[in-house]
Amino acid sequence: MRIVVLGGGVVGVTTAYQLQNDGHDVALIERNSEVAAETSWGNAGMIAPGHSFVWSSPKAPITLLKSLVLKDQALRFKFSTDPRLYTWSWLFLMECTAAKARRNTLLKHRLAAYSQAVLRGVVADEEIDYDRNDRGIVYFHRSQQALDNGVEHMKLLQSDGQEIEVLDRDAIVALDPSLASAKDKIAGGIYCPTDETGDPAKFTRALAARIVARGGAIHTGTTITGIETTGDAVARVLTDKEPFRGDAYVLALGSHSPVLARKIGIRLPIYPVKGYSLTIPIGNRPLPPTIASVDEHNLVAISRFGDRIRVTATAEFAGYDTSHKPADFAFMKGVTEELYPQGADYDRVEMWAGLRPMTPNNLPAFGGRRLRNLFLNTGHGHIGWTMSHGSARITADLIAGRTPAIPMDGLLN
Ligand SMILES: Cc1cc2nc3c(=O)[nH]c(=O)nc-3n(C[C@H](O)[C@H](O)[C@H](O)COP(=O)(O)OP(=O)(O)OC[C@H]3O[C@@H](n4cnc5c(N)ncnc54)[C@H](O)[C@@H]3O)c2cc1C
Repeated sequence: MRIVVLGGGVVGVTTAYQLQNDGHDVALIERNSEVAAETSWGNAGMIAPGHSFVWSSPKAPITLLKSLVLKDQALRFKFSTDPRLYTWSWLFLMECTAAKARRNTLLKHRLAAYSQAVLRGVVADEEIDYDRNDRGIVYFHRSQQALDNGVEHMKLLQSDGQEIEVLDRDAIVALDPSLASAKDKIAGGIYCPTDETGDPAKFTRALAARIVARGGAIHTGTTITGIETTGDAVARVLTDKEPFRGDAYVLALGSHSPVLARKIGIRLPIYPVKGYSLTIPIGNRPLPPTIASVDEHNLVAISRFGDRIRVTATAEFAGYDTSHKPADFAFMKGVTEELYPQGADYDRVEMWAGLRPMTPNNLPAFGGRRLRNLFLNTGHGHIGWTMSHGSARITADLIAGRTPAIPMDGLLN
């Protein structure tokens, strides 16, 4: 078949790759001059099944309420005139029961673990250099109480096959000596040895180059303006350049998917949740992080990509605004400098903000809606790099009419 993929983030590109592997002729459309130029550019790069917990948990409503009055919270919720924010928030709150949080987390973990297995296959086949670090991720806590709660919490993922080791502060420093000077600030942590990290944009761009080398088309600098339908099918995709026709179409526009979908009467409960990141060269600093970590108290994630570190934080409801100012990064930079004082050249930071495409239950949308040749692969939220590879394979299987390799009950909604 000829298949048109809408969107050149990690989800769109991995989907085009899997479709091409199945023998299809693929054309991908992306508005930026390069793929992975929006959310898939600046994320923490964590392939983190060990962080599959959904945000829609019983604790979330109170955290949301607190964020209305407290400043400097990891979560920033502001009132807005956008009615979609309230519809989404209501649906999100409906997912916050203990039973739903447990169910959604296990579904997410199933997808994330499968996705990591698919990624490993792609890495083996393609030998892409993307500053991969497969030494695991340490999720650390600053008090014994928080660590004990974290270990209890983690039992859910453990029961689903996630490998974990509980480490005290000495063991954490033995694992990553760059944390030695911050040892007293850390009570201990949960180490997920099978989690990993890598630069998502480097990976996505290299994969796109492979697609093109094998005859696929990546149309960058092309903005999709609409979708034309006839009867129960997409007829063509309209852009600011030429129109694109295919036998099937995949919608993978991240946070922008609902904007286009709405024009053809498909409502997708995906809302942008802004996050911030810093990319900092290590320069000649002697003690850069050797593995990735998440400071669970401050909700700051730190990854090492070769000669750089990437620091991410914050969930903010600011609509589609990706602007940022230095003050937005002060807290995360302070936390990183405190943990790794000799870890990077903190005078040379690159600032970035992007939008997580969040669904209320934190699970992506797959499969068809209304139109028989339009397939969704979108709404991957806060761990979309982690879930992209498996989601791409699943989408290719659904298009081929094959049964995906993992049970899809609860994932096809
Ligand atoms: C601060 C932060 C940290 C994160 N950390 C992690 C992490 O450590 N691990 C992890 O797994 N995930 C992480 N994520 C989440 C992850 O980045 C996203 O889930 C993932 O990048 C979503 O990919 P996507 O392809 O769906 O969206 P995008 O990357 O946004 O791609 C969508 C593409 O569609 C294009 N597009 C939109 N509209 C149009 C149009 N009209 N015409 C043409 N093209 C269009 C856009 O330009 C864009 O390139 C993080 C996110 C943030 C914000």
